Amino acid sequence: MENDQEILETEESEEYEESTDNSEFRRKRVKRIKGILIFLLIFFLIVPNIVCGFLLFKLYKMNQNIETLREEIKLSKLEIEMRTKQAASAQPAANSDSSNDDEKYGTDSLVELHLTDEEKYPGKQLVYLTFDDGPSDYTDEILDILSAHDVKATFFVLGKDGYDDQYRRIANEGHTLAMHSYSHQYKEIYASADAFREDLYKISNFLEERTGIKPKFYRFPGGSSNTLTPIPIQEFIHVLSDEGIVYQDWNVSSEDASYQMKETGVIAKNVINGVGDNRISIVLMHDSVAKRTTVEALPIIIETLQQKGNVVFLPITEGTKQVYQIGAGATDDKKEDAEVKEPGKETETNDASETVSEAEENVTEESISDEEKTSGDDSSSTEENNAGEENESED
Ligand SMILES: [Zn+2]
Repeated sequence: MENDQEILETEESEEYEESTDNSEFRRKRVKRIKGILIFLLIFFLIVPNIVCGFLLFKLYKMNQNIETLREEIKLSKLEIEMRTKQAASAQPAANSDSSNDDEKYGTDSLVELHLTDEEKYPGKQLVYLTFDDGPSDYTDEILDILSAHDVKATFFVLGKDGYDDQYRRIANEGHTLAMHSYSHQYKEIYASADAFREDLYKISNFLEERTGIKPKFYRFPGGSSNTLTPIPIQEFIHVLSDEGIVYQDWNVSSEDASYQMKETGVIAKNVINGVGDNRISIVLMHDSVAKRTTVEALPIIIETLQQKGNVVFLPITEGTKQVYQIGAGATDDKKEDAEVKEPGKETETNDASETVSEAEENVTEESISDEEKTSGDDSSSTEENNAGEENESED
């Protein structure tokens, strides 16, 4: 019995132990599962955040890189632009070492480079005083008058010995030194394209030797509308364009070219009326020992026009609109220029009745006499002018 009891007790205690073992095991399992769940929860909550944070950081870095790249692209674009502009400005600067162009192309004028005079002076009347046939014994006086009035002009000069100082003064004082042929002898220079080119090189080299400036502008003796050339004037225009030289005629004439010296007042009136309300006036005058009254009229012309308040006197440069008198072979551009010429033509008719075409006829009649090919001798020039009568009247 006692044994039985013992056995029972041990069985009970074994059962009890067994049941406590079971619940212990279950608790552990639950605990383990809980752990796993918490781990998974933490894992799925935190890891994506970390990944997100990492990705955001990456994105931020990439954005930074893109910004830097953008800046670099911008900079290189600017650099390319600058280089292109420099190259563009270097070319005309190389062609031209004229002192006023140096001023023009100088330091801060990359933008100005492409502007025309009309764009530079909106609403202003642009007046270009031009003096043909110089230098002469009046050149210094003309330069003094221009300087006193702070006016820059253009001198279409010939090749003459004994005037080196005058050539240099023209260039150094900011005027445009331009070509009007070396000899002014129609028969010679208009004989053929080659003869024309030869004369052109001669005057160009002559001026460059004396002033260091390679001239870029030309005025045909007689103007581009003269009918005296044995071959079409276009042949000579081609020569000029081959050489990169721009020719300019005029649309206002002082009418100072006729052999009889015009009165000072008449010359002044011709120019002032000729300028009228023109937007652009290229004024034909002469720098010749036979043209005393032109010198006298000059201060009157300048002062009267300056009093108008909206007149700007300019030298001829690349920014100057080309005024021309030729009808043949005009491009669209030139047709526009022809319009520029219209007002001047009217004024040419209204006074001294020496229109350009008449002048041409005059020259024809004179059969291109040697006129004022002065070759440095002004007394001979006077005689020639007197003898040559109106042969000079077209320019
Ligand atoms: Zn001339």
